[in-house]
Amino acid sequence: MAKELFGTNGVRGVIGTEMNPELVMRIGSALGTMIKGRIAVGRDTRTSGEALASAMRAGLLSTGCDVVDVGILPTPALQYLVREHYDGGAMITASHNPPEYNGVKVIEGDGTEMGDDRTIQLEALIKSRDVTVADWRAVGRLTDESQRVEEYISSIVTQFPEKICQGMTVVVDPGSGPAATTTPEILRRMGAAIHTINARFDGTFPGRLPEPTPEGLAPLSEMVRATGAAFGVAHDGDADRAVFVDEKGVFVDENVTFALLAEAACKEKTGLVITPVSTSDLIADVASACGCRTITTPVGSIYVARTMRKYIEEGHTVAFGGEGNGGLIFPNHQFCRDGGMTAAAMAALIAGTAEPISGLAGRLPSYTMLKEKIHTRDPKRLISKMKECADGISLDETDGIRIRWKDAWALLRPSGTEPFVRLYVESRDPIKAEEKKKTILDQINH
Ligand code: MG
Repeated sequence: MAKELFGTNGVRGVIGTEMNPELVMRIGSALGTMIKGRIAVGRDTRTSGEALASAMRAGLLSTGCDVVDVGILPTPALQYLVREHYDGGAMITASHNPPEYNGVKVIEGDGTEMGDDRTIQLEALIKSRDVTVADWRAVGRLTDESQRVEEYISSIVTQFPEKICQGMTVVVDPGSGPAATTTPEILRRMGAAIHTINARFDGTFPGRLPEPTPEGLAPLSEMVRATGAAFGVAHDGDADRAVFVDEKGVFVDENVTFALLAEAACKEKTGLVITPVSTSDLIADVASACGCRTITTPVGSIYVARTMRKYIEEGHTVAFGGEGNGGLIFPNHQFCRDGGMTAAAMAALIAGTAEPISGLAGRLPSYTMLKEKIHTRDPKRLISKMKECADGISLDETDGIRIRWKDAWALLRPSGTEPFVRLYVESRDPIKAEEKKKTILDQINH
């Protein structure tokens, strides 16, 4: 059995076609049937958010669940509140997708995103419509606890020494998304002086699209330079990811951000670093320099989060986890990607060193990672062709096929939901990376 409706991070689609209130209400009544109890519903700033959140609340209430409206907030804030107070959660968001998209991320009572097995069960209920329908005495009640986002803010601030960022200036670009009310406030309470851009909730995203690309962050870079800030930080549409520009306004590669924060975590405690097979070797390099071992998972933050928890339950120390796209997981805080926490950790790191981000990044080994999206109706055929590229070298089949040569590695993996495969090639030598990529493309397209 495989997931059909849900991808790696929930279900998403264009409003009015694949995504609509009717579908979300069915997800709500299936979820209420499965989880029961008190369920929190939150959303990002998309124009379709209130329509879908209303549908979600209606579906849940009709099964007899009590629903708590937590309003507009980052996905990690909802996850934190669910873990602390509720039996489950639903986040109406399409994360980094363009404005016309929306969707649902389902949160378990422990604050993690719903895993594959339970999602398959949920999908079966959505399809069969075999859901609980409460009678008039048993329908759920709706309450508003949107003020609780404050608890998320202080849960992050209290992780760090008081006013650790005094004297530092930071520019925050929440991209008109839900972190407008969280990240600037977190950094301000840590003692930093804050400037903001795109910091008003706006589902038309007038300043930039929800995906924080170097092009979209040009105004942020400009403001960093103009204000002499230590760095600029931007979020994707639901603020589970954070990306940075350095003190010169230069975009910091997400793997570099990951490496800097993983290094800081590994220096604090020796333990495992958990990351997907698609992540740069840079992370393993900095971890091993601190005496830490790296363990890889399939691609998807939920696999990283659950693997972190599994190792902790087995008695291991886990220092850090995350993905090479700016989605980082801080095991002392919670087991999900958290953009606000990432911004705070970077601020604390910079406050504790004499060097700016560009200096810290400049000390790291440099890698070239090339990515290619290959459209195909037959991902399996390409994957088996990729196996032939291995040439007797042992394969890693954690997710798709990864081949590691002496001076490079390559990964080919099918997309979870769409008709294409992704190729990743990385080497310290940019020419080598290009050559490998060309050889592989020639071979698998043959
Ligand atoms: Mg996101």
